Amino acid sequence: MIPYGKQNISEEDIAAVVDVLRSDFLTQGAKVPEFEEAFASKVGAKFGVATNSATSALHLACLALNIAENDLVWTSPISFVASANCARYCGAEIDFVDVDPVSANIDVARLAEKLEQAKSASRLPKVLIVVHLCGNPCQMSEIRQLTDSYGVKVIEDASHAVGARYKSEYVGSCQYSDITIFSFHPVKIITTAEGGMAFTNDPSLAKTMSLLRSHGVTRDQELMNQSSEGSWYYQQLALGYNYRMTELQAALGISQLDRLDSFVEKRNRLAESYNRAFNDLPLILPVVENCAYSSYHLYVIQLQEGLVNVCRKELFDTLRAKGVGVNVHYIPIHTQPYYQELGFRTGDYPAAEKYYRNAISLPLHPALTDEEQAYIISIIRSACE
Ligand SMILES: *Cc1c(COP(=O)(O)O)cnc(C)c1O
Repeated sequence: MIPYGKQNISEEDIAAVVDVLRSDFLTQGAKVPEFEEAFASKVGAKFGVATNSATSALHLACLALNIAENDLVWTSPISFVASANCARYCGAEIDFVDVDPVSANIDVARLAEKLEQAKSASRLPKVLIVVHLCGNPCQMSEIRQLTDSYGVKVIEDASHAVGARYKSEYVGSCQYSDITIFSFHPVKIITTAEGGMAFTNDPSLAKTMSLLRSHGVTRDQELMNQSSEGSWYYQQLALGYNYRMTELQAALGISQLDRLDSFVEKRNRLAESYNRAFNDLPLILPVVENCAYSSYHLYVIQLQEGLVNVCRKELFDTLRAKGVGVNVHYIPIHTQPYYQELGFRTGDYPAAEKYYRNAISLPLHPALTDEEQAYIISIIRSACE
């Protein structure tokens, strides 16, 4: 099976992890801060807080922005469930903004309308979580202008957009958001096996996220409410978690970071080949947003309802039967049973539901060969013609 995504591990990556295994610290050593500083400086953010997953980082981001019961958080219905669950962990209510029919990123015109309605109803969200779907950065400058005028904070779920750029800056710079989250799951752009990172330019948000990542416990005298009783002394200041990244993961991340730009370039070249091969077929192809450079975590084609004789399920099954590991991203979050129990209904977000009916994610990863890609293209061309 040609997988839709796959990690890329070099001998240098392996050596970096083995070095940590032979060292004194498997966790809470120098590698995690080194990874945080290297990544923050790469993307142009002041602070990076490494975690054991992007899901943990999203939870910490919500906590740092004081999300709690009775608060409202908005996100996109076309994302992995973690983008919405993080607000639910804090007891907040979630709502969704429908997506653009082509990019399936948040529909900025719909966001503007919904904010105006919410203001009239005195039910504005505290935080908007935008999702850069497939690595295609949302229209952050327009979004930030809107959210600023309504006093709404912004988290970028950039799990897909590691190495992507917007207005020539790396996603992660937090130029247009309060906090940005990356995922390092093996199917994503670079990997630490499991892992994530939160970026921010706000020192107090960074401090809160690092405190809550490790039980809410500190050894920093400046944060304590009394003087230290000795060098063993620590204080728990808040109810935190164990969301720490290990030294092994950080060493792998540091080593992978060197190849980030080359991975993203390769993904863009493969995406261009797909674009060229499909441009005469009745398919909606990915369109990169204005002023954006996509990291192409995913290459998603949409079948055009009524114009193409094959349905999504048939094409999906054909590709799988021929050894092509296609996938579907994503089942709209509001149609999941957990969210239906909270009152959401199928039909609530028509653009998201239509996107889901017609979308297929094709294999795209740095080791995909020209032969494999030509094979995938030939199956799709003969099914759609
Ligand atoms: C993968 C993913 C996550 C969760 O990432 P983990 O590191 O597996 O916790 C969150 N949001 C989106 C959009 C993702 O694709």
